[in-house]
Amino acid sequence: MAQETIFAKIIAGEIPVEKVYESDSVLAFRDIAPQAKVHLLVIPKTTAYENVTELAAGDPALLADMVAVAKQLADEHGEGEYRLVFNNGASAGQTVFHVHAHVLIDDLKEQSLGG
Ligand code: AMP
Repeated sequence: MAQETIFAKIIAGEIPVEKVYESDSVLAFRDIAPQAKVHLLVIPKTTAYENVTELAAGDPALLADMVAVAKQLADEHGEGEYRLVFNNGASAGQTVFHVHAHVLIDDLKEQSLGG
């Protein structure tokens, strides 16, 4: 079981966020420190999994749900293409130990054209 994290407080409604998606099992909201034009976080509501390795082993269907939500959000907030990042472990940049997917959408077409 993961320890109480800031994401558990967000799920409990104790810390306000800009929600972009919510179901019984998954929540998505805007990252407070965006690293891309659109930067969203997709998290499961369960606090049982600290990282994606644990989630994949423990509840692969929930991981698949998170990926489906990421794709839906990429359609809604961009043109359907997106980066999906899971940091695994402190040395890999993970700071919140409640599994979460970063959904990052940049205007890649503009960048590749140098504009
Ligand atoms: P990671 O470094 O992969 O663990 O990602 C944690 C992410 O949570 C970072 O990108 C933070 O900017 C983000 N974050 C932390 N606190 C909040 C908050 N209160 N609302 C939205 N995003 C947050």
